[in-house]
Amino acid sequence: MLWAVGAGADVIIITDSFDISVKEVLEHNGLSEGVVSAIFAKRSHYTEQGELVIEGEMEGEGGRRRCSFSGRPRCKGDVLSAYSSGRDYDFVCYAGDGKNDLCACLRLDACRGDLAMPRKHWALAGLLQERQLPVSVVEWENGDQIREAIQSRLVV
Ligand SMILES: [Zn+2]
Repeated sequence: MLWAVGAGADVIIITDSFDISVKEVLEHNGLSEGVVSAIFAKRSHYTEQGELVIEGEMEGEGGRRRCSFSGRPRCKGDVLSAYSSGRDYDFVCYAGDGKNDLCACLRLDACRGDLAMPRKHWALAGLLQERQLPVSVVEWENGDQIREAIQSRLVV
């Protein structure tokens, strides 16, 4: 992830999980929260007794309505659209695995050279094969493959 930030990328995380979990995963991988530009997740905190409390709905830009593609309470497509609106990206790469990632992939822009990256053998990969989107689709099984796909676009 550091290489992407070093290359000038904004890395954002959009998840149905809760923010403490995301921060713990980042820390576990030696990354500070500051590495990512934004985390869209359910808010959570620990009580003085050490109990984890998940407060519920995600905070932040977009994603305020139920997603008509996945049926989830938050729409990842709306979150992605709201975040990238007004930001002049050379291209957007969206990596995901679940059914609830489809909506965000449908927002990608083929003319800009955006890239949909579904995890191989997971639900999103099958959904993208069925739909034949105009954007480039590259399946991945590990983070190195995501890095290689993005880096190949940076060298023009
Ligand atoms: Zn949606």
